[in-house]
Amino acid sequence: MKKQKGNQLTGKIASEEARILVVDDGEDIVSFMKRALQNHGHNVTACTDTEDAIENTKNTFYDLIITDLKMPKISGVEFVKMAKKISPNTDLIVMTGFPSVETAVECMKNGASDYLAKPIDLEYLNIIVEKSLYKRALEKRAAEREYFEQISRVDGLTGLYNHKFFHELLNAEIARADRYKYSFSLLMIDIDDFKRINDNYGHQTGDIILKEIAAIFKSLVRKTDSAARYGGEEFAIILSQTAKEHSRVFADRTVKHVATSKLEGFSHNETVTISAGLAEYPDAHTQESLIKKADEALYQAKNMGKNTLCVYGDQKTH
Ligand code: GH3
Ligand code: MG
Ligand code: MG
Repeated sequence: MKKQKGNQLTGKIASEEARILVVDDGEDIVSFMKRALQNHGHNVTACTDTEDAIENTKNTFYDLIITDLKMPKISGVEFVKMAKKISPNTDLIVMTGFPSVETAVECMKNGASDYLAKPIDLEYLNIIVEKSLYKRALEKRAAEREYFEQISRVDGLTGLYNHKFFHELLNAEIARADRYKYSFSLLMIDIDDFKRINDNYGHQTGDIILKEIAAIFKSLVRKTDSAARYGGEEFAIILSQTAKEHSRVFADRTVKHVATSKLEGFSHNETVTISAGLAEYPDAHTQESLIKKADEALYQAKNMGKNTLCVYGDQKTH
């Protein structure tokens, strides 16, 4: 039979084939519905028994279930609850021969997304089904878009912002700081002797340690701050609207926290240390000079013997 796909409501987006389960104790109804929906290109399973239908939903994923409300064994509302529990991502449309606002509301409260009044009008059935599938397709697209946006900003290993997005965040912070005339700080961090960790324990352990250190940064920063993996075993933290003197306290605490943290990646009581360099905007006037100054302070921290913080402009800290 020729498929009649899509309609004005759905346009292109919902023309994908959907898996639909129709549940009704009336043989005539299920075969009528099955034919109607198959004509629209959907993959349809029909059940005349609610218990069979529940078993079915456990074994197969359906995009949509259309169920009668008045059935023997399990009530329609009960069926909606059970099906939603088994398969929360399945949409449910209920059919009722006694259309009333109360029944519809009760079903919606229990997870149904729409309802159809019996006797079923073919055109109306198609509109309701396509509307439901269209909504699903839109939601799926939105989730995918969000996911891709997210992965384009985040470092795959550590879950921190990546190098590219860090620069965007830094630009935005500078623009805001200029406009509202406030200071903020940039903290550059490098793990000490990380090459030795890789050499001694292997790269896999090295990766685990990187993740654990990133998690420490995530747990210590404020919601408004941004922690990024700058590259390799280097990290950058933008301390939003925080002047040097307050950032110094945070940075100092972070260095000490890492040095005393028990890391799961190690089998014994080994620890890892970090060195950190801090610079303040607008002491450094541009993005490049801010990074350069924080880097210089970091270099100084390394020269001072590592496991320490240096603040640009100070003689000596820590
Ligand atoms: P320093 O104390 O002077 O910073 O010494 P270091 O050994 O940490 O610095 P170096 O720059 O010599 O080495 C950095 C090491 O970090 C070498 C590189 O293989 C390792 N590294 C960079 N990215 C990753 C990664 O994603 N995973 C692992 N396991 N290692 C990485
Ligand atoms: Mg390095
Ligand atoms: Mg290092």
